[in-house]
Amino acid sequence: MNDLTSLTIHEAHDLLKQKKVSSLELTKAHLERIAAVEPKVKAYVSVTEEIALAQAHEADARISRGEIGPLTGIPMQLKDNLAVNGTRTTCSSKMLENFVSPYDSTVAKRLKTAGAVLLGKGNMDEFAMGSSTENSAFFPTKNPWALDRVPGGSSGGPAAAVAAGECLFSLGSDTGGSIRQPASFCSITGLKPTYGLVSRFGLVAFASSLDQIGPMTKDVRDSATVLQAIAGYDSMDSTSANRPVPDYSASLKDNITGMKIGVPKEYFDGVDADVGEVLKRAMGQLAQLGAIIDYNVSLPSTPYALAVYYILAPSEASANLARYDGVKYGFSANAPTMWHSMEQTRQQGFGPEVKRRIMLGTYALSSGYYDAYYLKAQKVRTLIRREFDEAFKKYDALVTPTSPTPPFKFGDKVADPVKMYLSDVDTIPVNIAGIAGISVPAGFIEGLPVGMQLIGPSFSEETLFRIAHAYQQATGWHKLRAPVQ
Ligand code: GLN
Repeated sequence: MNDLTSLTIHEAHDLLKQKKVSSLELTKAHLERIAAVEPKVKAYVSVTEEIALAQAHEADARISRGEIGPLTGIPMQLKDNLAVNGTRTTCSSKMLENFVSPYDSTVAKRLKTAGAVLLGKGNMDEFAMGSSTENSAFFPTKNPWALDRVPGGSSGGPAAAVAAGECLFSLGSDTGGSIRQPASFCSITGLKPTYGLVSRFGLVAFASSLDQIGPMTKDVRDSATVLQAIAGYDSMDSTSANRPVPDYSASLKDNITGMKIGVPKEYFDGVDADVGEVLKRAMGQLAQLGAIIDYNVSLPSTPYALAVYYILAPSEASANLARYDGVKYGFSANAPTMWHSMEQTRQQGFGPEVKRRIMLGTYALSSGYYDAYYLKAQKVRTLIRREFDEAFKKYDALVTPTSPTPPFKFGDKVADPVKMYLSDVDTIPVNIAGIAGISVPAGFIEGLPVGMQLIGPSFSEETLFRIAHAYQQATGWHKLRAPVQ
């Protein structure tokens, strides 16, 4: 990795501001890095070189006029389920392989306005369903720390791209863990913001009551910078929260003395012993920094969260994915009649995991089963949310592993969907409750990254940043760069 591609956003910004480097140099360095490592890592579905060079020129012109914001001239990637006007948005699915978006998602528009430079779009599990990118219809992404291992998913492309120095940051989406789990697997910082904080307009819908877009960055400071640019009310998303956005960077105070952090014991059941050890050390470090750790917290409904998720998420997905019928969007199969064409479009256009989810969802919603599955799951969702509410009366945040295991090998879990689903057992409750969670690098097991998750109540991003930043200042795990060359 050369010097420019190992920088953080704030380091690159300082160089841009002092005119020690131009956005064009920064952008070209990243395009070269992409050319060098992509054959191994495969984090990009498409590279938008022309757009990148044009935007870099524009950014340099702005900077020379003295107009520089924290993201001006900063090269980035976006997950390929985020719409960018005039570019392909594939969701790593055959269904949308050649779909060119006719409009910008709100996050893409805001980042454009902020002067960020688009390098391309990140690979993912098809329609964001998966935990390893093995469900991408195009190719799996490799983990830059160990190329025989998965980068996590569904935002595996974004996580690998950031870890391999193929962009300064990326955006992912998180429905059940898709930002935090790959962040953990690739040793980067991934934030799942509170539901409603970041507009979902232009994010291809998976499960609308759970989906959130968030920053995937090299450290917490960068996460705060990116969140600042994308957060805030948007009339194009009916679930967007209409409340003022705080100054996130101001919350990065080093001192966490007296902050109360709970350790919910259910999150450690079934966790690899090595991962448990890494977390123990991380919690010890938080205590040394002055936090008050309570190791005896219980959230008894936690074990039901995974089951609730696999009723609700597929139910919502089955409705959201009904639009892919070959008439309005993307792929359309040739067949003698319209009916046959719709049938063939869905049969050929969707991969096996997406079909499994659609079948699970339509089953859970079918008459006679609705009360037993969907309605019941909604009730348990309320219980899970209430338990968090109660816990946050006592604690500023909760600390857990991000994932029960370090990154696993390709093929290890594809044959058994439930094994794969268990990869998100520690992240899913956060989406169920609509609250905020962040994963930060916490160490390694035989060279494989392990993440620590901090969970906070709704709109507690400042608190999470503050704790996570203090932890990073004291430990430095986030400064290590992946060995891929
Ligand atoms: N891995 C989970 C799933 O397959 C979560 C995915 C996500 O957050 N998009 O549904």
